[in-house]
Amino acid sequence: MLRLLIAGECISSVELTINKNDTSILVVGNKQFITAFVKRTCYIRSSTVEVSWELDDVIQLIKTRQPAILILQATQVASLQICRHIKEQKLLGWIYCILINDLPEIAITKMGRDPNWELRECAQALENGADAYLRISSISNQDSAIAVAENRLLKAQIQAGLRGVRLYRQAMHTNDFLSRIALVDPLTELSNRRAMEWELPRQVENAFSQSTPLSLIILDVDYFKSINDNYGHPVGDRALKLLASRLKHNLRIQDSLFRYGGEEFVIILSHTDCEEALAVANRVRHIISDQPFQIDGRLVLGITISLGVASLNHTDDHRGESLLRSADENLRIAKSNGRNQVYCCCNH
Ligand code: GH3
Ligand code: MG
Ligand code: MG
Repeated sequence: MLRLLIAGECISSVELTINKNDTSILVVGNKQFITAFVKRTCYIRSSTVEVSWELDDVIQLIKTRQPAILILQATQVASLQICRHIKEQKLLGWIYCILINDLPEIAITKMGRDPNWELRECAQALENGADAYLRISSISNQDSAIAVAENRLLKAQIQAGLRGVRLYRQAMHTNDFLSRIALVDPLTELSNRRAMEWELPRQVENAFSQSTPLSLIILDVDYFKSINDNYGHPVGDRALKLLASRLKHNLRIQDSLFRYGGEEFVIILSHTDCEEALAVANRVRHIISDQPFQIDGRLVLGITISLGVASLNHTDDHRGESLLRSADENLRIAKSNGRNQVYCCCNH
């Protein structure tokens, strides 16, 4: 649905349904400008009236509704301000801004403007972030040849803007999709190692700057190779999926789980000191070992894990590398001590 939103001085903004695209146009100007614009878009079928005009309201309206096209009356002082503001915003800069100078020729002549005035106005609009600058009088007779030509120009300009916005939205969609692929492990659907390498330094930095505790668990499935060897790789995959899901559904809100690689997983525990982390690790160990995994209708497997726990201390680096290394060393100790156990910096 293509929606038309109109915001104007001391009157309301008007939303008009144009067609079946989920895209909207916001028009900002005085009463005359808006009236003219409604006339120019008389092919629009239905309308609903909304909010009042204030610069802050318009900015708010733009933020909440995210119109594809913004049509601004060039002679309103605030228009350039709005345009500039939009283009400075990282999340709104894609909105296509059309500035329309609606002064009739006669008014410009009366104002005694020099012949280059309009060129300078146009340049100033573009310099302030406008994507297009048009001169379309708001008082042209709608049946005149000039009005027909102006309407065609306006429509073409809106279409040009919509083309750009559609391309931007497609690019964002692709970008989201690629980011998801890049950061998610396809087998377990958990965040992957790359995601952990982004998240860990952020959490370590937060913990240092806010003086809050931070702990990390690295866990590894015991004798996982034997599952592959005895039952085949697809059964190993299924076991990893079930195990990941069980882990995910049994963690606290502040815990972030990642598949670190193979049959190893990392849990970052924010706002958690060593004793609490040890308790979490022991709980997780039981969650895995106490209930066997139903692989399919016939096969049930008992699985255990070994866990290494470490907590951030002032000698650790800010990237989380030494924290991860400490947890990994503790995991190796848990393995060599016999597996199916937790080794932690504070329990020994
Ligand atoms: P340990 O108790 O010492 O950890 O023994 P382990 O057998 O678990 O360790 P090892 O490192 O010898 O074997 C890990 C196995 O995990 C080998 C590898 O083929 C398997 N593996 C890693 N990723 C996957 C996967 O995505 N799917 C399956 N099915 N197997 C995987
Ligand atoms: Mg293992
Ligand atoms: Mg391993």
